[in-house]
Amino acid sequence: MKKKSLQEDIVDVCLRRGIIFPSAEIYNGPSGFYEFGPVGESIRQNIIQLWQEAFVNAENNVYEISGSTILPENVFEASGHLESFNDPLTQCEGCKSMFRADHIIEEQVGINVDGKSLAELFDIIKEKNIVCNTCKGVLTMPREFNMMFSTTIGPVSDKTGYLRPETAQNIFLNFRRISHSMRAKLPFGVAQIGKAYRNEISPRNFLIRLREFEQMEIEMFVDPDEINNHTYWDDIKDFEVRILTREAQQKNGKPKKMTLEQGITDKIIHNQYMAYYMFKESLFVQDLGISEDQFWFRHLLENQTAHYSKANYDLEIQFPFGIVECIGLAYRTDYDLIKHAEKSKTNMQINVPGKGNIVPHVIEPSFGLNRLVYAVLLNSYISEGREWTWFKFPKSIAPWEALITPLMKKDGMDETAENLYWDLKDQGIDAIYDNSGNIGKRYARNDEVGVPFCITVDYDTLKDETVTIRDRDTTEQIRVSMDEVGSIIRELILEIITWEEIKEETEVLNENTE
Ligand code: AMP
Repeated sequence: MKKKSLQEDIVDVCLRRGIIFPSAEIYNGPSGFYEFGPVGESIRQNIIQLWQEAFVNAENNVYEISGSTILPENVFEASGHLESFNDPLTQCEGCKSMFRADHIIEEQVGINVDGKSLAELFDIIKEKNIVCNTCKGVLTMPREFNMMFSTTIGPVSDKTGYLRPETAQNIFLNFRRISHSMRAKLPFGVAQIGKAYRNEISPRNFLIRLREFEQMEIEMFVDPDEINNHTYWDDIKDFEVRILTREAQQKNGKPKKMTLEQGITDKIIHNQYMAYYMFKESLFVQDLGISEDQFWFRHLLENQTAHYSKANYDLEIQFPFGIVECIGLAYRTDYDLIKHAEKSKTNMQINVPGKGNIVPHVIEPSFGLNRLVYAVLLNSYISEGREWTWFKFPKSIAPWEALITPLMKKDGMDETAENLYWDLKDQGIDAIYDNSGNIGKRYARNDEVGVPFCITVDYDTLKDETVTIRDRDTTEQIRVSMDEVGSIIRELILEIITWEEIKEETEVLNENTE
């Protein structure tokens, strides 16, 4: 039998263990839509919480909003999406399969065709003999395909609406309301977590190219004259990042490690605000368990940078099947506010004391939640060393903090375990209870979804009110008193103590006995 690839293994475990399901699966739903099951939803919420803590709560000038996902046509006329949010679509003359012209060229001959016109793409298709992936048929001249999903608003269909292709637009639309109501002074940011929709021509690769996905974005509004005067510059300027410079890309080179200060001095990083977000993004990605050597920032080439952007740096992660942009970072300037000001005849200026009214510039870090979830799944998956596969999720992301379980469903162990479960939930521990099957199977099931600790009530518990804690990563067990187990789990999760330290203080029951 053919050995499954890592990606196939992950998809399989996601389906079996309630992590991620294809949408409308029982009707063989369209590709590019996935849903989070109970385990996946918990992981998703934990990642969102980490993000909010780092990018909203830890700052004193970032406000979070939640906007509508359907917006009227004039929004996208102003933003330029209606005219230019297009992908090049080519079709097989034989079997009528549709392809993204740039992708099929890249797939078949491995050349990057970013920035090429439709006619240039067609020339390459003909020259390099690019044919239909399905039936080897001839491909048509590519045409522009707008990626926005449209709908009609209200019962009389004269008003067109679009599902937002990015969360950013709500923030620009609400700029005046937010700055007034929060009495915000520059610099300030507006954050938003929410759904975005793109009618991708060929969704693929599980969570990588979806038609409905989630973004976590910030628009940081800054006085352009202060773009190189970030409050925390002195604290972060020596932080090191890896950057795949434009020069390195042209020579097929590797990412280069540099301090943020060196990046600015060498004109590789455009400004201090972008450097600040490189710093924050790096820490966040590492909190998700992605190590330093697995990601870098790619400075997009001139022909890959939107005309209104002064610079873009994609945080790319090395996946087993290739490199994927997971977080975008763009200097969107005053483009969006000016476009909306012109179209809506609304004043989008803000007062800067001593200077007067200005339209601020915007720095935008844009995180793709689904791609990050996939990165976490791939990165945490372990298929060796045990009879079952397991996820070594960072403790703060794992779907639950602890499993509470009785050794057996008899002699009062199950009642005691259930009482302990409710007690730990009252203490704020994100606990789950399981008493089905035998204890070995329960441990395995918990490892499979990456729960870091299992607390077992056994015969000794009934005698001396102690329980065992099993560590997911080592499978070692220690015995602690029931009174203390909640605070010990809390300290382990928050990494106030390590497993090694707690082991020294308590009785170790076994070493890798499973
Ligand atoms: P962009 O506005 O294209 O720079 O997208 C910002 C972020 O959204 C990217 O870094 C991705 O993580 C995510 N993203 C964009 N398009 C998709 C898609 N079709 N499916 C899943 N995530 C996406």
